[in-house]
Amino acid sequence: MNSDAGDQGGKGRRRKPSDDETEPTPVPAPAEPDAKQQAEDAPDPMELAIRLAKRSAKPGGGPFGAVIVRDGAIVCSGANAVVSSGDPTAHAEIVAIREAARILGTFDLSDCEIFASCEPCPMCLGAIYWARIKRVWYACDRDDAAAVGFDDAFLYDEIERKPSKRKLPMRRVLRKKGLKAFQAWLANPDRRAY
Ligand SMILES: [Zn+2]
Repeated sequence: MNSDAGDQGGKGRRRKPSDDETEPTPVPAPAEPDAKQQAEDAPDPMELAIRLAKRSAKPGGGPFGAVIVRDGAIVCSGANAVVSSGDPTAHAEIVAIREAARILGTFDLSDCEIFASCEPCPMCLGAIYWARIKRVWYACDRDDAAAVGFDDAFLYDEIERKPSKRKLPMRRVLRKKGLKAFQAWLANPDRRAY
């Protein structure tokens, strides 16, 4: 859990004092024995995400894991299942988000945090935003992933380009007809924004 970056505190985490902090004055221990005990008993979500990633580093798997937490409790977890399920979108974060939405019965995960064994790729980052997850914790980063063959730098580059400038051919056709779906949406008084 104690990665180099991103450990700004949080439930059940200890923070190492930085160099510029002076020696703290001794104070009585906080009167929260139950909360502290709970934090120590609960599995660390990032430890679990990494364990899942290691377990998934096998033929048919992918070395990525993710855990979703709400109110300090683990909701669910996921491991990469692209090859085993034949689903190119089955990244650990997506697997976990789908499971959390199913368990919690909502597409709105704004009271959840996600712990990923690696910095989410652009697809997963997009899904995290759509799910409104409030915080992301990650262990390895995109450079660590690129070093073992999972290089998504080209995706970041592509996203920044205009559609006509991307390597992926993108042509725009039938805009007027396409807009009719949006008009139907606006005309539906029962539409539910998401
Ligand atoms: Zn991903």
